[in-house]
Amino acid sequence: MIEMQDVWKAYPNGTQALRGISVHIQKGDFVYVVGPSGAGKSTFIKLMYREVRPTSGHIFVNGFNIERLKDRKIPLLRRSIGVIFQDFKLLPKMTAAENVAFALEVLGLSHRQIRRRVEDVLEQVGLGDKANMLPTQLSGGEQQRVAIARSLANNPSVIIADEPTGNLDPDTSWGIVRLFQRINDLGTTIVMATHNRDIVNSMRRRVIAVENGTIVRDEQRGLYGYDE
Ligand code: ADP
Ligand code: ADP
Repeated sequence: MIEMQDVWKAYPNGTQALRGISVHIQKGDFVYVVGPSGAGKSTFIKLMYREVRPTSGHIFVNGFNIERLKDRKIPLLRRSIGVIFQDFKLLPKMTAAENVAFALEVLGLSHRQIRRRVEDVLEQVGLGDKANMLPTQLSGGEQQRVAIARSLANNPSVIIADEPTGNLDPDTSWGIVRLFQRINDLGTTIVMATHNRDIVNSMRRRVIAVENGTIVRDEQRGLYGYDE
């Protein structure tokens, strides 16, 4: 599903963000990526959807060889991956339904198929009754659910989330994590970078800790492991 072999990443300014990452994430895994700020978590995650390219090493995601992938094939890779951000990244002038539909419009589906799929995924995230709301009319947690619905629209095999609860209060954060758990129960792999200690410690899922560009811990039923 996701395989990295001795991956290094130096940014053009010389910052050595990753120093020899090797990891194997299987279908159906639920993985928390933890570690201090600047450790390399975002870089690690961005490599998976080819937002950044490795300086050396090998990366395979959903059968795509990331280093060899032609630019014109990037959309195909990204359709197999749902990506969720801390700041939601919704289009502000589009309703919840339009934000989700937008992700489907490149696929050549009929209007009727798109409408049905949009209704399905909004229902799945508990927003069936908010389809016509603009992002500014929704709470933070609801906006993140729209982003999750959008990521689910293409039926991805993996969802990659970079601090998805970073802007949300604790109760709302728990709602998002329960939603990820339900999605994972249906077979979708989840990779989530987080600073949320309570969530990691309560869920006891796989924990990959990154420090100074390397994986220092990889435990199947891990704990957060930092005091802050
Ligand atoms: P984390 O997500 O754990 O906070 P990042 O992957 O964002 O870590 O960053 C790892 C290191 O790479 C940090 O030193 C950061 O400043 C640096 N870095 C991240 N993005 C860039 C970039 N585009 N150009 C240069 N350095 C970067
Ligand atoms: P929170 O306090 O959780 O951030 P809000 O007070 O912003 O949430 O919104 C509470 C509820 O009211 C949400 O379900 C949201 O969909 C709805 N809502 C907020 N603003 C509007 C609006 N201008 N029009 C319609 N519904 C709204």
